[in-house]
Amino acid sequence: MYTVEAMSCLFCKIVEGSIPSTAVFQDDRVYAFADINPQAPVHVLIVPREHIASLDETDASQRALLGHLLGAAAEIARTKKLGKGYRVVVNIGPDGGQTVDHLHLHLLGGRAMTWPPG
Ligand code: 5GP
Ligand code: ZN
Repeated sequence: MYTVEAMSCLFCKIVEGSIPSTAVFQDDRVYAFADINPQAPVHVLIVPREHIASLDETDASQRALLGHLLGAAAEIARTKKLGKGYRVVVNIGPDGGQTVDHLHLHLLGGRAMTWPPG
């Protein structure tokens, strides 16, 4: 069952395979793929298979899924040998810099990061 919102969602289309992507990791709840415009040598997007517009749209019933997304990021980082460190980012809403309205984690690594972010 798809909502109208999900039918027009770029990342839902990537999850279902109608828009191609380079898969990095997947299981029953999560799909991870290479960012099309990488900001670091490793730049992976980790998304829930179900359509959730943003972190701000989640509630207590989705906390296990949120933990699962974060755990997937750590697992991918280990696979990518990012032992020196990496960054996990979630952009939320216009001020947070979110451009795709389907919850996603950015996993960035392979170079030293700077702080604060822009
Ligand atoms: P946001 O700005 O919403 O946090 O991040 C959206 C990310 O999605 C950006 O880093 C952007 O490069 C990536 N992106 C946008 N369109 C596509 C696409 O069609 N394929 C892939 N693999 N990444 C995309
Ligand atoms: Zn979606």
